[in-house]
Amino acid sequence: MADDRAKLLAKFIEPLRVAPGSKVKLARDFDPGYKASFLKKKDGAAVVEAGVRLLEEYQARLAAQDTWGVLVCLQALDAGGKDGTIRHVMSGVNPQGVHVSSFKVPSAEELDHDYLWRYAQRLPGRGEIGIFNRSHYEEVLVVRVHPELLDRQRLPSVAKGKGVWARRYREINDWEHYLAGNGFKIVKLFLNLSKEEQRIRFLRRLDLPDKNWKFSAADARERTYWDDYQTAFSAMLSNTSTEWAPWYVIPADHKWFARACVSAVLARTLMEIDPQYPKLDAARRKELADTKALLEAEAPKGAASDPFEAALAAEAGQQEAGKETKQARKQRERIAKLRAEVAKS
Ligand code: AMP
Ligand code: MG
Repeated sequence: MADDRAKLLAKFIEPLRVAPGSKVKLARDFDPGYKASFLKKKDGAAVVEAGVRLLEEYQARLAAQDTWGVLVCLQALDAGGKDGTIRHVMSGVNPQGVHVSSFKVPSAEELDHDYLWRYAQRLPGRGEIGIFNRSHYEEVLVVRVHPELLDRQRLPSVAKGKGVWARRYREINDWEHYLAGNGFKIVKLFLNLSKEEQRIRFLRRLDLPDKNWKFSAADARERTYWDDYQTAFSAMLSNTSTEWAPWYVIPADHKWFARACVSAVLARTLMEIDPQYPKLDAARRKELADTKALLEAEAPKGAASDPFEAALAAEAGQQEAGKETKQARKQRERIAKLRAEVAKS
């Protein structure tokens, strides 16, 4: 079952992955309006929902195992749908296990350091999922499109001038390689929006009063650099999609499809990690059994020594009599599975 799900997801996301070493030209290679022919809008919500459930299950295991961390980098042009994607795709996940970091124009303190410094400070820990809403890739996107931003970084001459972008791609690849080798999976998602769809979404922000706050004049100004951004994104995808941290280009003109894709990529990543609940050793199991005996001995007169176990037994009785509720059955199966896992350990 888990295998089937994994295969299905792999098939779904394969066309979105940028093959390491390939030369990408966005306009030629990726259609922002693409939808998989086998998926209809009404099924899209079901895919997101299934992905949300998978993420919920796997994130709990990721946290319990406390060995791997996951870093999700989200890049897009303005109105690409980053915020809504995070909100929908992560909706089922325990907030304690996820951190979202948004990166804006760097502060004076941030500009006082090397360009990866501020991103390194927001990396997820083991057992956590960290989401970068914009990421270190801004350093080869907005900074490349607006060279005056590079001047503000006060770099020594060796670190700017000719070859600066090739150098940054290499540095970013090396940094990610180091992180991947130390237990941090990196998922890079580029929400690929068309110019016409951006125009429509900007107008929506202007027309709907409760969306006005999302619009800034700077967004309209950036739109005039559309072609420069397309070139910068193409170069970024060509140079930084690696075996250890590949890029996925998510068709973003249809929000429902973009969300289904993102949800599939994340679910697939976690299934690949396949985190496991830690197994209890004999000493720890004995400790639990001893504690259980102590708590049972404390039961007041007339009370069940372990009401939880009693409830389970009662449910099992109902089940035999064919009266078990769906919820009770699920609970019982979950507990049986946990028991089996503990017994195996
Ligand atoms: P928003 O995400 O809409 O709140 O906007 C954040 C702004 O910060 C965008 O215009 C980004 O281009 C800009 N920004 C993010 N990272 C950098 C960076 N490293 N250097 C300069 N500007 C940046
Ligand atoms: Mg904005």
